[in-house]
Amino acid sequence: MKLWMKIFIGLFLGVIAGLVLQEKAVLLKPLGTLFINAIKMLIVPLIFSSLIVGMTSMKDSRQLGRIGVKTLVIYLCTTAVAVTIGIGVSRLIQPGAGMTIDANHVFAAKEAPSFIDTLVNIIPNNPIGALSSGHVLQIIVFAIFIGIAINITGQKAEPAKQFAEAVAEVMYTLTGLVMKAAPYGVFALMAYVVGQYGIQTLLPLAKVIAAVYIGAVIHVLLVYGGGVAIVGKLNPVRFFKGIADAQMVAFTTTSSSGTLPATIRCTQDNLGVSKGISSFVLPLGATINMDGTAIYQGVCAVFVAQACGVELTLANYITLILASTLASIGTAGVPGAGLIMLSVTLTSIGLPMEGIAIIAGIDRVLDMARTTVNVTGDAMTALLIAKSEGELDEAVYQSNRTDASALCEDAA
Ligand code: ASP
Repeated sequence: MKLWMKIFIGLFLGVIAGLVLQEKAVLLKPLGTLFINAIKMLIVPLIFSSLIVGMTSMKDSRQLGRIGVKTLVIYLCTTAVAVTIGIGVSRLIQPGAGMTIDANHVFAAKEAPSFIDTLVNIIPNNPIGALSSGHVLQIIVFAIFIGIAINITGQKAEPAKQFAEAVAEVMYTLTGLVMKAAPYGVFALMAYVVGQYGIQTLLPLAKVIAAVYIGAVIHVLLVYGGGVAIVGKLNPVRFFKGIADAQMVAFTTTSSSGTLPATIRCTQDNLGVSKGISSFVLPLGATINMDGTAIYQGVCAVFVAQACGVELTLANYITLILASTLASIGTAGVPGAGLIMLSVTLTSIGLPMEGIAIIAGIDRVLDMARTTVNVTGDAMTALLIAKSEGELDEAVYQSNRTDASALCEDAA
């Protein structure tokens, strides 16, 4: 049986157990805490290694340097827009209204440090300290520097590069193993939550799902459709038709890395992107470009704040955009990785980790949407960069004719 099915069953049985056991369901809480601890255990090594791998997949040459800069700029900008869309939709839909995460505690959002302080502190004066205390923003910056230095060092740094690749692979495997425990963890967490708060507490989760999906659709149509049409001056319907296969693989596997072969094939064969561009931009994107994950982080952070009755300030929102953008870069392209990284976003503005326990129950459904967006963003970036570098075979792109685009042309 597929993992997502098991998790759904865990979720369903957890709800029933919670309804039956009521307050006694608190006995199951340690099982849920074990699962949460296991995913927290992955954060530091996973981010550190997968980011270095992302950085070192750029080869050292002038053109690649230029492409690297363009790629990173598009990835960063679209991701920041994605978090903002997530926050906006979540503020509109109010998924956390009427929900209480913990009635016994009043959670106050941490006083956000000033923007200058945030910038200054982003560079760790003690990287080992950052790693051991789990200061994720500093770890991300350190990993980026290490990646750049490995590239500059070249041949002599090859063992360091291979080591990072090996660690990243091991961490992906470990993430897979931890995810195997998800059905049980989710069962226990749901039982505890339902037992503690009752079914009415969970109904607003439908709004979280709606907010993530609405945010995803807005982002795909406006940012990707708009990017292809306005920046690339290409017909966006052909773009969407061309990458539909990869989108379906992403939706069902919830892994950008797992979808990579399909994404590469679609962008080369259907969109006409050159081999050089696609094999550089796409693997990097599968590691660091996670717009869907950013939308999800924005939605979930606002949701948790609402459920805790915390009024977020403008400084909180700015921190949130920064933290979610960096957290989504650090998110590995594997199932459920975004849930792990949600802890970064929540702690960046002082929100409680309990929020993750609640989101975990519906995470698979959210992961389907966010991974599809992640993969679509990678493909759009490859297309725009190929176009700007004169490495797009427009004959292939144009021959990717669709009924819908034919209809649009007829209408025009
Ligand atoms: N599953 C997502 C991906 O592979 C990452 C995430 O969990 O947000 O793109």
